[in-house]
Amino acid sequence: MSWDITQARMAGLIDEVMDGADPATERPAIGSAPAGSAISHIATSRKYDYLVVGCGFAGSVIAERLASQHGARVLMIDKRDHIAGNAFDEKDAAGILMHRYGPHIFHTNSDEVFAYLSQFTKWRSYEHRVLASVRDQLVPIPINRTTLNRLFDLDLRTDAEAAAYLATRAETVEEIQTSEDVVINAVGRELYELFFRGYTRKQWGLDPSQLDKQVTSRIPTRTNTDDRYFADKHQAMPLDGYTAMFKAMLDHPNIDIALGADYREVRDEIEATHIIYTGPIDEYFDWRFGKLPYRSLRFEHKTLDQENYQPVAVVNYPSEDVPYTRISEYKHMTGQVAPKTSITLEYSSAEGDPYYPIPRPENQALFKRYEALADATPGVTFVGRLATYRYFNMDQIVGQALATFRRIDAARKAKMVGTASNAGVASDKLRIVA
Ligand code: FAD
Ligand code: UDP
Repeated sequence: MSWDITQARMAGLIDEVMDGADPATERPAIGSAPAGSAISHIATSRKYDYLVVGCGFAGSVIAERLASQHGARVLMIDKRDHIAGNAFDEKDAAGILMHRYGPHIFHTNSDEVFAYLSQFTKWRSYEHRVLASVRDQLVPIPINRTTLNRLFDLDLRTDAEAAAYLATRAETVEEIQTSEDVVINAVGRELYELFFRGYTRKQWGLDPSQLDKQVTSRIPTRTNTDDRYFADKHQAMPLDGYTAMFKAMLDHPNIDIALGADYREVRDEIEATHIIYTGPIDEYFDWRFGKLPYRSLRFEHKTLDQENYQPVAVVNYPSEDVPYTRISEYKHMTGQVAPKTSITLEYSSAEGDPYYPIPRPENQALFKRYEALADATPGVTFVGRLATYRYFNMDQIVGQALATFRRIDAARKAKMVGTASNAGVASDKLRIVA
């Protein structure tokens, strides 16, 4: 197959040179908004093997794999004016590297995912720590021995002592189904109300008893004094930020990018053999079965004329008396040194861009109806947090996208073998478009 790839790469290079000669077909700059209707900057007469909708982790990983491994011609579009999806970061007016869509901390247990991304970035070791503002104190969350000692003025010295103490508070729930059950079963009602009930009600607009157990199961309870938010094997931030990592990933002659281009508006103008769709699945099908609920957020970004604001990167505010859920300060995550600091306050909302699928049985049932439609739609692959309606972290989305590529790759190989044996010719003479 090496000739296929070489041929595709040569075609890409020739196109690039041709692009230089004709401003109408110029590749739009990666990471910047093209003027006017973005799609007019793409040679719409050019036929693509793939149209990738969405330039977040899901779309970008697949686009990179298809271009680099199959020599496929890929057009990526995003309705936003930048790549990197929700992981997008940029320097603000004060020069502080901040995350436009809230704090994104990379962590994974997968060596494969970490090695894959390491092709496109160096890393800065970073272990995330979060404090919760409870009863006028800042205490570690996840709840650990330090949290218990500080909050209840105790002197628990060992794991066994902390476990015994928690056992006196925990209320055994026979069948753990909801996010309330998970916490009550682990730490009892008082700690549940202090740390989880208000935060969850604010974050989701629902009581924990109305949410699937997977939501609060993300937060462990510890009997030791480990105060890291995550326990994963790999915990690090891309050294120059997420956007720089995405730029490196998408810097391939076979990948064209059109920003500010909504699939719903440009779909009839693009010719592509196959679509990779990473937007909301219900939107793709024109909300045929009704709206699939996604939770939104409003971010209030501020720059303060002081070097630091809070002791750690994120402070959670579980009380319902405080309107926001958490405050993030980016310099802790990035290690940037500067006289000013930038922070983000997060407010949850029902309206706005879709950020979180809402894990509860009725939503999953509705998603399953859309998924059945997706399975019956040839030529379109649905990947990512919005399209597969899964409350996934970045690394899980990278893993999902790599697995999807493997399936495309296997199907392509099977097709090539089939075509070769049918035609009775050597397979390396075939020009196959995946
Ligand atoms: P997205 O990043 O949402 O990308 C989808 C893209 O598709 C978007 O850019 C969107 O504009 C585009 N799109 C949608 N519809 C259309 C359309 N019709 N036409 C064109 N383009 C379209 N994960 C972690 O691992 N660690 C964290 O600390 C972390 N923190 C988070 C904090 C917040 C506030 C949020 C919301 C998420 C956080 N995540 C975190 C999760 C992480 O953001 C996701 O796992 C990841 O970004 C999902 O990637 P994706 O490509 O599936 O989706
Ligand atoms: N949670 C909570 N209190 C906290 C932290 C988390 O109630 O101090 C609950 C809340 O429901 C939240 C969920 O646990 O949505 C998962 O938390 P995580 O920090 O993983 O949320 P994310 O980073 O995805 O917003």
